Amino acid sequence: MIKLTGITKSFDRLEVLKGIDLTVKKGEVVAILGPSGSGKTTLLRCINYLEKPNEGEIKIGDFSLNCKRPSKKDIHALRQKSAMVFQQYNLFKNKNAIENVMEGLIIAHKMPKEEARKRSAALLEKVGLAHKLDAYPSQLSGGQQQRVGIARALALNPDVILFDEPTSALDPELVGEVLGVIRQIAKEGITMIIVTHEMSFAREVANHVVFMDQGVIVEEGNPSELFNNPKEERTRQFLKRIK
Ligand code: ATP
Repeated sequence: MIKLTGITKSFDRLEVLKGIDLTVKKGEVVAILGPSGSGKTTLLRCINYLEKPNEGEIKIGDFSLNCKRPSKKDIHALRQKSAMVFQQYNLFKNKNAIENVMEGLIIAHKMPKEEARKRSAALLEKVGLAHKLDAYPSQLSGGQQQRVGIARALALNPDVILFDEPTSALDPELVGEVLGVIRQIAKEGITMIIVTHEMSFAREVANHVVFMDQGVIVEEGNPSELFNNPKEERTRQFLKRIK
């Protein structure tokens, strides 16, 4: 289980997260929705300390980190528990697909190279890229690069995978293949938190939907409840605009 308590984050005077409490159960797929600038990406980045929260507590399983006074060791331990899939893929340009997946296994998990290669090849096969192991990012489409990004996250066997708008940089015809892969791994019971603007996907794949606005969680619930019968006016307005 993941439990965030009282997470706040400001950039200079701009208060971006104003005390976020969120619980994600093991195996749950949580979609975070909300207007541009509401703090969705910042929240995701706080969970693995790509951004340092000002206050609050992050609990993943038995591990807990107080954001006010974390030791370097605690930050390192927290980062090992999650893997991020980025909007812009963030692959190493000078490494081919399999090397991109292997990197984290060798560096972070100290896995022997041959074992890392085997595991990476299997994961690339899983995301439909068995024929592209040796291709460099520049030789791959956006959808293929994002699928390498997903294989890289899976390789680390994290407690949770954090997806930051994983399809928003893609041409429309490539969105489906990436959502298909996410849909497939969601069925395997991997805990996932997905920031997305793809409403129909969130509705179909998520077990739990969170609506954020102006740095707070306005409303959360199961998808049919939140989409069909939102309780808050702000949620209603948002859903009306994007339909
Ligand atoms: P979008 O849907 O457009 O990606 P979002 O809900 O993910 O938006 P964030 O990216 O979390 O929103 O940004 C929330 C606010 O924080 C915005 O006003 C943004 O400009 C600001 N912000 C984010 N990162 C930084 C930063 N590194 N420095 C200063 N301001 C930042």
